[in-house]
Amino acid sequence: MSFDSLGLSADLLRAVADQGYTIPTPIQAKVIPVVLDARDVMAGAQTGTGKTAGFALPLLQRLMTGHAPQGRRPIRALILTPTRELAAQVGESVRTYGKYLPLSSAIVFGGVSINPQISLLRRGIDILVATPGRLLDHASQRNVDLRNVEILVLDEADRMLDMGFLPDIKRVLALLPPRRQNLLFSATFPPDIVALANRLLTSPVHIEVAAPNATADGIEQLVYFAEKSEKRALLSWLIGSNDWRQVLVFTRTKHGANRLASQLEQDGFSTAAIHGNKSQAARTRALADFKQGAVRVLVATDVAARGIDISELPHVVNYEMPDVAEHYVHRIGRTGRAGHEGVAVSLVSRDERSSLKGIERLLGRQLPQSAVDRSRLVNPPRSPDPRPQSTARDGGSAANAGRNFRPDHVRTDGGRPPAQGERREHRGDERRGEREHRPHQGGSHPPAAHRGDGNRERQDHGRRHGKSRAARRRNGAARTAAPR
Ligand code: AMP
Repeated sequence: MSFDSLGLSADLLRAVADQGYTIPTPIQAKVIPVVLDARDVMAGAQTGTGKTAGFALPLLQRLMTGHAPQGRRPIRALILTPTRELAAQVGESVRTYGKYLPLSSAIVFGGVSINPQISLLRRGIDILVATPGRLLDHASQRNVDLRNVEILVLDEADRMLDMGFLPDIKRVLALLPPRRQNLLFSATFPPDIVALANRLLTSPVHIEVAAPNATADGIEQLVYFAEKSEKRALLSWLIGSNDWRQVLVFTRTKHGANRLASQLEQDGFSTAAIHGNKSQAARTRALADFKQGAVRVLVATDVAARGIDISELPHVVNYEMPDVAEHYVHRIGRTGRAGHEGVAVSLVSRDERSSLKGIERLLGRQLPQSAVDRSRLVNPPRSPDPRPQSTARDGGSAANAGRNFRPDHVRTDGGRPPAQGERREHRGDERRGEREHRPHQGGSHPPAAHRGDGNRERQDHGRRHGKSRAARRRNGAARTAAPR
């Protein structure tokens, strides 16, 4: 089947051809005609199989053929994503596919200044790509009017409808007209979410191009059983001895991501970390550096687990297993995209075996296991990091590149449980606290600088009520523990 047969306009076909796409992926072939037909859709397909073009192409076409209201351009399509990075990526795709069309789009997410977004929104745009928190900020400041939205897309829909995001999504839905086309996309749809999603949809078409929750075909998955104290040495050994050049490593906590990143730097691998406590500028830079090959290892919480498309990323490692089985599918789905091959390795400690069992139950099969001779972890083969001399920013690790691994690498604190107040970010996303904080409305408490930080409002509240810093941290940790 070719793109020509799907009913897309010449301008869209030209944009698709510019991307080098010759045939639609299975999800695109199934979804595009149904969306063009104005139906509601719930679509599941493996990670990296072209879902974005699956909804963006027909959405653009529908806006071109539909009736455009008079006056200032109202927002006619709204695309929501769980993370800022995914919003940026989807927004970029919308621009790419719509480049020959007279439609305008904007991307809004938290952690960056709200003012340029306001200017953009005031000019009038047709398509808005947003994370929910910042969108609600704009709504409360009356920067956006969503009453003319004709098409709503929830990308990573199961995540958008789970307990963490649902309150914000409900508030967004209340701002939309009841009659609209709803498009829900994800690689995973847990049964409880399907029930909820069905209530949101009107006579939906359900599209599945693989078994539910299936991983992409090109991903080779492997498990190593390792005690927590061995994991760092094992990971360094895997990277070094296999000469892995681009590796995305998932940890459960932000603190754990920072710690592992600096340990890997000590081991001679240029490494960056990405998680919700980093400034948006640092997050954007870390991802860009990793995509360009300027850093070899990116250590991430689940903030990088959903949707992010890193061209031909060869290796993903679960340094710590996710608590939620579906997250495994998304994490390893950063590799093996667009028909490429990839390797996903999971380092499983004794107390993570139940997580592994849950994942295997979800996948409906046992994952192959591999083992390594422990004695080899002490002096693993060298694999010089080929990047140019380090910069001040990356901590000078190039000086260590290619050095022998020190014997004490097996004696790490990798097994330390999360400290008190240390939040797991296994649902990493922007579901809370990315709001732009509104100007202080009087009172003795001065406005704090905006940090895009989920805990800030609570901390301010704590400060106002004379709580100690430690008590505030404990309180914040308890109240923000991820919903189960
Ligand atoms: P997505 O799942 O939407 O993130 O897309 C995954 C990757 O597949 C992206 O790098 C897209 O550029 C690429 N892609 C999407 N559609 C096609 C297609 N029809 N042919 C080849 N590559 C595609």
